[in-house]
Amino acid sequence: MKLIRVGEPGFEIPGVELNDGARLDVSAFGEDFDEQFFAKAGIERLRTWVETHQEECPPIPKETRLGPPICRPSKIVCVGLNYAKHAAESGMAIPKEPVLFFKSTSSIIGPNDSVVLPKGSEKSDWEVELAVVIGKKASYVSKEEAMLHVAGYMLHNDISERAFQLEMEGQWVKGKSCDTFAPIGPYLVPRSEVTDPHDLNLWLKVNDEKLQASNTSDLIFDIPTVVSYISQFMTLLPGDMISTGTPFGVGLGLDPPRFLQPGDTMELGIDGLGVSRQAVLAFQD
Ligand code: ZN
Repeated sequence: MKLIRVGEPGFEIPGVELNDGARLDVSAFGEDFDEQFFAKAGIERLRTWVETHQEECPPIPKETRLGPPICRPSKIVCVGLNYAKHAAESGMAIPKEPVLFFKSTSSIIGPNDSVVLPKGSEKSDWEVELAVVIGKKASYVSKEEAMLHVAGYMLHNDISERAFQLEMEGQWVKGKSCDTFAPIGPYLVPRSEVTDPHDLNLWLKVNDEKLQASNTSDLIFDIPTVVSYISQFMTLLPGDMISTGTPFGVGLGLDPPRFLQPGDTMELGIDGLGVSRQAVLAFQD
């Protein structure tokens, strides 16, 4: 059972995708996939509820827009330079401890929504990433207990404007937070349904050309390390999202560098976490 949210932007309703691919409206469960849902073991409760109420759940037509699979989280914490070859292509040293940055939660869009290049952008770039969703409040948790705080996993494209990120004063946040810069989904896959999150292939294509292809086994800092580390500096709330970093193959690292243009299409995927596709549009006042 995977968690989805469907409908018009800002008006999504909760749903599930069953193992046979059928999508069901679970509005009657009475909860959206927000902090309270995850805090109260929502996935387990929903699974039990679906088992007994499946017949009464309206089917969701395949053409219905998929929204982000979770409600807007309290924060998106990202890990930078978490794959060795990506650190090298970025001209950065391999970090000795996780490099953290924030991404605005207003950048979140559905998995197949269009990405709009921000005003003045010439260097917008792609980053396929494994995102972790927190299931249980995490403050000063150890590596050993960290995975018990994970609800599940999602596919994320951590879109980044390199000029805003790297050529301006200050932190990376400016290049990471533009509207539409965080397509997530198609769905949230519960932790119990992912055998090994550290052995998942992840890839990204631009206009059918495969530019990123790696495996989460190449993560420098694994998921328990990242969750535990972040929790030493802030409390991770249920429903929060951690993006674990992108592998080699971003536009910045190409020779010559290549960035997104209006009319481009990105397609990305992670084993078991689905595929997403975004058209790239120019900014319009
Ligand atoms: Zn990233």
